[in-house]
Amino acid sequence: MYLMDKSRDELAELLTAWGEPLFRAKQVYGWLLRGARPQAMTNLPKALREKLDALPFGGVSVHSKFVSTRDGTVKYLFALEDGNLVEGVLMRYRYGNTLCLSTQVGCKMGCVFCASTLDGCVRDLRHGEMLGFVAAVEADEPAKAGERTVTNIVLMGSGEPLDNYDNVVRFLWRVTGDLGISARNISLSTCGIVPMMRRFASEAPPVTLSVSLHAATDAQRSKLMPINAAYPIREVVTAAHAYAEQTGRRVIFEYALIAGENDSQADAKALANLLAHTLCHVNLIPLNPVAERDLQGTTRAQAQRFAGWLADYRVSATVRREMGTDIAGACGQLRRKVLK
Ligand code: SAH
Repeated sequence: MYLMDKSRDELAELLTAWGEPLFRAKQVYGWLLRGARPQAMTNLPKALREKLDALPFGGVSVHSKFVSTRDGTVKYLFALEDGNLVEGVLMRYRYGNTLCLSTQVGCKMGCVFCASTLDGCVRDLRHGEMLGFVAAVEADEPAKAGERTVTNIVLMGSGEPLDNYDNVVRFLWRVTGDLGISARNISLSTCGIVPMMRRFASEAPPVTLSVSLHAATDAQRSKLMPINAAYPIREVVTAAHAYAEQTGRRVIFEYALIAGENDSQADAKALANLLAHTLCHVNLIPLNPVAERDLQGTTRAQAQRFAGWLADYRVSATVRREMGTDIAGACGQLRRKVLK
């Protein structure tokens, strides 16, 4: 097992078996959470550092980073030990910094507007690798003493988190338990794998659930998202409703506005009917055009009109602010650019 995948208890067990006192495990785990490799753990005896260094590590490193001159957004490409690259984005807000993370290398969900899925899913990320992204960012952009750089996490990068369920749930328990990032500061975005949404509601910390809807009818959604054939839109909304009831957290529905496809007043009305009686908020995102796909984003003016119609129909909605537009395109585009 990789060192980064060991829980605090598993690490304590290992070091105890090696005859080390308990405080050593605490030191080592603390270093791992700060992105250090064994050789850099300077307060450990050299022999212990070498023993740890001989174990498979399973960490990540910063391959490259791009900083927006407009709003300070940082787009990271992380390198995994097997040479794969994955994206992450650090966004700066007044209340803190949000790190957007990937959960898989690529994705197999096949949504027609998304760049992450163009080459399918290469592999799942392990929970230790996801924790490693947070640690790597803390080391790369250190905060003031006693503070953390990453205060919020969103699992909205490449991959479908509920298609890598066990790793994602373990990651969330480690992040809330070991890094002390509260579940209310974490969001997970899913394309709507209904049985996993139901399990997630009772097995994971009560994070905010975001559901990618992007349409208001099965006919429309099936054209955009193949997963809709397995879990039709009503079932997805019902599962989201159940999540809100069980956790008391308002569900977010994501709706990418595509010019001439799903951005008319009739679409807004159908969406409002679908979401009536659900504790939710709609995030409207003008589609980010992907070079490989022939779909155009709605203009910002039309997006605002769409938000207005939803408000008329008593649905809470906002148009999402765009950040880092000078450094990155839509999901998965940076990785593809670098791979080429
Ligand atoms: N698999 C998860 C996370 C995907 S990325 C999910 O499906 O929710 C996060 C969001 O970005 C999703 O809502 C996804 O549908 C959306 N997205 C993907 N490509 C996009 C694009 N080109 N423009 C706008 N949003 C996009």
